[in-house]
Amino acid sequence: DTQKLYLGMDFGTSGARYAVIDEHGLIHAEGKRDYPLCVVSIERKHTVDSWKMTLFLLLEDVAVTLRPFIASISIDGTSATTIIVDSNTGEPLCTPFLYNESFPDALPMVKSIAPVNHTVCSSSSTLCKLISWWNSFDSNKSSAILLHQADWLLWLLHGKLGVSDYNNALKVGYDPENDCYPGWLVSQPFSQMLPSVKAPGTSVGSIKETVQMQFGFPRECIICTGTTDSIAAFLAASANKPGKAVTSLGSTLAIKLLSNRRIDDARYGVYSHRLDDKWLVGGASNAGGTVLRQFFSNEQLEELSQQINPMESSLLDYYPLPGVGERFPIADPKLVPRLDPRPESDVEYLHGILESIARIEAQAYGLLMKLGATKVEEVFTAGGGAENAAWTKIRERVLGLPVRQAIQTQAAYGAALLALKGARENSH
Ligand code: ADP
Repeated sequence: DTQKLYLGMDFGTSGARYAVIDEHGLIHAEGKRDYPLCVVSIERKHTVDSWKMTLFLLLEDVAVTLRPFIASISIDGTSATTIIVDSNTGEPLCTPFLYNESFPDALPMVKSIAPVNHTVCSSSSTLCKLISWWNSFDSNKSSAILLHQADWLLWLLHGKLGVSDYNNALKVGYDPENDCYPGWLVSQPFSQMLPSVKAPGTSVGSIKETVQMQFGFPRECIICTGTTDSIAAFLAASANKPGKAVTSLGSTLAIKLLSNRRIDDARYGVYSHRLDDKWLVGGASNAGGTVLRQFFSNEQLEELSQQINPMESSLLDYYPLPGVGERFPIADPKLVPRLDPRPESDVEYLHGILESIARIEAQAYGLLMKLGATKVEEVFTAGGGAENAAWTKIRERVLGLPVRQAIQTQAAYGAALLALKGARENSH
């Protein structure tokens, strides 16, 4: 039996990465490409050509010696990045709608058809993008089909148009619990544009012969459905049992918890993605690294943190926000940042801020539990703050839980795990 390898690719906001792993999760190769600037148009909008070019650059970056062993490929893309194409030719009928682009023109209609507080009721949702396009496109719309970024890139590899996964499809209105599009969506005139949906990491079929031959992948190489970039990053941490969680300490504080129960609460911006028979519950606070950066450089953070005694609790009680307003774990658009009194000692000040963010993190996990999620048992950490050993100790004390740095945090690694999952299921 020859060695089998699995290729995952992550199409993020600024560039794309790949990771090649084996069945044990060991990395054999990884790399990064920026989207080529030459094909990003004058308004700095992404074009599908820039995605396509980047995809093929990444495939070329995979060493020729590894390519014959790639048994399976999967891709994640940014959530709610959407493209509408002709279902006969695959030709784009518009430039891509990016994840953060807002279409308030479609919001009244979306609100009139969707249940109250549904995830699609946000002006940057995929459904708002779809309806805004539907209302403004004059030509023949009967052969139009909606794809997410990952779907479109995967289509270049498998050639079957109109396939998505239930993570990407959540923001167009897919019901992951009943595994179908809800009636209120199916009854719309544009419903024929909705892609078919599979579980993330499901084989769609074999790799296209042209791609297989061009790069020297095996003929049996399969292409699997993907997911969104933030879910792929969660998958990378291998927090694969209910009660395991990942806290991302980047510019903001984002938490994700694997739960047996689905939780949705629009007040807090809390919602759940399906992961097979479990739910990935998430929420994000505005508190976090942005505030740290306002006061300290990364070097200062490191130097001052080493002087903190993490076993001692800080009595300084702050709520470090970069501006007014918070959603999770406190839903209050008028919440004012609280960052004083500032002690004379910078070590004490930083200790107070780090401990206050830890308290917000504890409150966040507590709220998920109160809303019905599985109780958190272990926390993995990703993002810039994961490197901070003193903070990790503070968080262990405040959370009363084991806290570890996640070994893998790259979304491309998570996408490779999906490729592995798809290959395993396909061989059964
Ligand atoms: P993002 O991708 O969300 O911008 P990163 O995951 O790259 O963020 O993390 C950067 C953040 O981490 C910055 O806001 C910075 O203040 C914070 N950071 C960097 N080094 C440390 C450290 N040693 N301790 C705590 N926070 C840190």
